[in-house]
Amino acid sequence: MIKEKIKSLANQYKSEVIANRRHLHANPELSFHEFETLAFVKEQLSKMGVTDFEVKAETGLVVLIKGNNPEKKVVALRGDMDALPIIEQNDVPYKSTKPGVMHACGHDVHTASLLGAAQILNEVKTEFEGTIKLVFQPGEELIPGGASLMIKDKALENPRPSSIIGQHVMPLIPVGKVGFRKGMYMASADELYITVKGKGGHGAMPETLVDPVLIASHMIVALQQVVSRNASPKIPSVLSFGRIEALGATNIIPNEVKIQGTFRTLNEEWRAKAHQHMISIAKGIVEGMGGEVDFEVRKGYPFLKNAEELTDRAQHAAIDYLGEENVIDLDIWMAAEDFSYYTQEIDGCFYRLGTRNEAKGITSGVHTPTFDIDEDALEIGAGLMAYLAVKELEA
Ligand SMILES: [Zn+2]
Ligand SMILES: [Zn+2]
Repeated sequence: MIKEKIKSLANQYKSEVIANRRHLHANPELSFHEFETLAFVKEQLSKMGVTDFEVKAETGLVVLIKGNNPEKKVVALRGDMDALPIIEQNDVPYKSTKPGVMHACGHDVHTASLLGAAQILNEVKTEFEGTIKLVFQPGEELIPGGASLMIKDKALENPRPSSIIGQHVMPLIPVGKVGFRKGMYMASADELYITVKGKGGHGAMPETLVDPVLIASHMIVALQQVVSRNASPKIPSVLSFGRIEALGATNIIPNEVKIQGTFRTLNEEWRAKAHQHMISIAKGIVEGMGGEVDFEVRKGYPFLKNAEELTDRAQHAAIDYLGEENVIDLDIWMAAEDFSYYTQEIDGCFYRLGTRNEAKGITSGVHTPTFDIDEDALEIGAGLMAYLAVKELEA
């Protein structure tokens, strides 16, 4: 049976997948600079005899593994490859050798897992029908997102997959388990840059000034009505401001105040409307209080929707592979992921790989200097991805 074969290959290649992950972890590269990573991926693929690949978006790679009757159906698997500008604080043999750059989001795990899946799928290719397309993408962590560039560079064409499956580490889930969610899963994320312009001067003479600090204060409070009054209670929305800059003093009112924030939601139509609401509230306030406002919305990734039927099939396949007790249902997650660009083009399923191990002290969150994983997750990471692809070809 193909499941048993994939499981045994995943076990057989486990030490190689771990070695690859450690190499990638020790040699991280920032978004859109994944040149050594790309060379490493190509080298590993060539070593396993997988040579049908093409560079996309400069540091990305698309790989084809053809089974019998390769035109019958195409399913894609995606792994991202970039690291973050963080100084690693773990004391491990595979610690980052590049100061200030760290695989703190587990993209080393995703790349190594996808390489492992490639090795497994290449071994069993006479036992499935169709083609599996592997998408190694750059720049997940940085707008405009490597996924959007891969799509522009036709990563989803020739041949076009009917669906795409992506996996991401989750340090909240114990190693050995994975998580799925159908439908709305992750948020769109837009950056807000607001400049409130007034007329500064001596704090003792407010009647001669237009105080941008007071205008900005009203604005921050008023903008929350977008979430509390304008948003449908059925669509999660978050508006947070994390930076206010008013460079005056106790007795100096500055000329301008800068505010930065983030708006996140799970519906593209509402997202566009919310931008307009925010801008018109901000304009209304400066109209009433004087001054001027520049309101820039820097658009980030769209919201991520997991296709219902595809995700249902994948979740059942995962139960079949790992057992019911090891497959959990996920909650909505208000972070963003550029995998969402693929899900706007074709059916997508983005699931979570558990990497936590409290007994070993592996509990740090992603994007922290002490993030690490229990490497037992890699056997599942590689094997399950391969199995999900094969099962989806059969569906
Ligand atoms: Zn990240
Ligand atoms: Zn990530």
